[in-house]
Amino acid sequence: MSDSDELKVLNPATEEVLATVPAATAEDVDAAVVRAARAQRGWAALAPADRARLLRRFADTVDAHLEELARLEVSEAGHTLGNARWEAGNARDLLEYAAGGIERLLGKQIPVPGGWNITFQEPLGVVGVIAPWNFPMPIASWGSFPALAAGNAVVLKPAETTPLTALRLSELALAAGLPEHLFQVLPGHGHIAGRALVDHPDVAKIVFTGSTRTGREIMERCARLVKPVTLELGGKSPNIVFADADLSTALDPFSFLDNSGQDCCARTRILVQETALDEARDFLADALAAVVVGDPADEKTQMGPLISAAQRERVRSYVPDGAPALRGSAPDGPGFWFPPTVLVGERHDSPAAREEIFGPVAVLLPFTDERDAIRLANDTPYGLAGSVWTRDLGRALRVSGGVRAGNLSVNSHSSVRYWTPFGGYKQSGLGRELGPDALTAFTETKNVFISTEGPAQ
Ligand code: NAD
Repeated sequence: MSDSDELKVLNPATEEVLATVPAATAEDVDAAVVRAARAQRGWAALAPADRARLLRRFADTVDAHLEELARLEVSEAGHTLGNARWEAGNARDLLEYAAGGIERLLGKQIPVPGGWNITFQEPLGVVGVIAPWNFPMPIASWGSFPALAAGNAVVLKPAETTPLTALRLSELALAAGLPEHLFQVLPGHGHIAGRALVDHPDVAKIVFTGSTRTGREIMERCARLVKPVTLELGGKSPNIVFADADLSTALDPFSFLDNSGQDCCARTRILVQETALDEARDFLADALAAVVVGDPADEKTQMGPLISAAQRERVRSYVPDGAPALRGSAPDGPGFWFPPTVLVGERHDSPAAREEIFGPVAVLLPFTDERDAIRLANDTPYGLAGSVWTRDLGRALRVSGGVRAGNLSVNSHSSVRYWTPFGGYKQSGLGRELGPDALTAFTETKNVFISTEGPAQ
């Protein structure tokens, strides 16, 4: 754990230093929260239509800088250009969507005896967002933009290794006319700046995305202040492939290789019905060999490097030399490279089959029938995502009903759409982001009863 007062941002494809940014201290966090609280009062007092207009302007400003933001994500996070463009577009789209919710943040009128009863959705105040390095720009946006739309100020702490897109977004917010200090980005160490945000009495809620271990600690610390949390944590998601499925789409290797496998929704447990196992193995061997791994800034590249040397070591520890596996290739030389890999000799209860590896490594496991598939899919402490592949609609619905996870796709590998709720069961998290209720998660519900009883006649 480093206490350095600067963060060195590396390009993970070259190991070159891209930038050095100051690391926020606990005092910096405190000062930011004071400024944010002041800005929030003015923001919440604006007419809803004016807040919506400003967020739409912010969306337009992001749109005008899409390529710049995407290239920044490529250089600090090693994402492929195609993915990074999608990510910048996702930040813009979410701003538009959240802006649309401001004028529709409705309360209820509830029938009661003796008067009228109405509810209000009031902003919480200052929201702290703590983001990881794997999808720096989208995850910072999912926590921050609905919170802003609901009338809050945001103090965002990006991950140590990837602060640049978040810093740029906060500059673009100012350029678009958002009030000063409403959306502040404080790069810093987790155990210093992150912890200061979590422990701050004037931060009304924490939205955390990262490892289950850190999420657990944050939840414990928030409990002392009875502070609400949204936690988006790890995953070990199943890809359940029945023998009647179209294997060439069901076994798309990018279901676990996207973002070099550093994706909490990666389908890293490939569960294949045993009658299709040999065919699946042959298909995956060819598919891995065809993956283009290399410079993420090259339009033709399909998979870039891992984020850091430490992450590569962690991934390597799950793939001992000589382990039975299907393997693709990866560049030599500078950069944190690891080849696409499917382990084929694992038991379903081995560490590689149960723990989140967070790299381009999956395990291939057989199942016998529907019940066995559901049992294996659920045999993990996680419950974030999963896919079910079959042409039998009834079976697809039964299996979707049986798997305990927050985001399932049938005959698809998609997990994230800003229109729909996202979050995990079990140790994958708590609460939901995105979707039509995203703003409500950043409000308190106030109930007001108005008596209609007059003076006794
Ligand atoms: P991490 O938990 O180490 O760090 C995440 C963030 O928390 C960073 O900004 C870090 O500085 C901060 N942090 C670390 N210690 C802290 C503390 N004590 N108090 C406050 N903040 C602290 O995780 P990571 O290595 O950055 O990210 C990888 C993990 O994130 C993986 O396990 C992955 O599955 C998970 N993840 C989950 C989702 C999801 O939506 N469920 C999305 C992306 C990543």
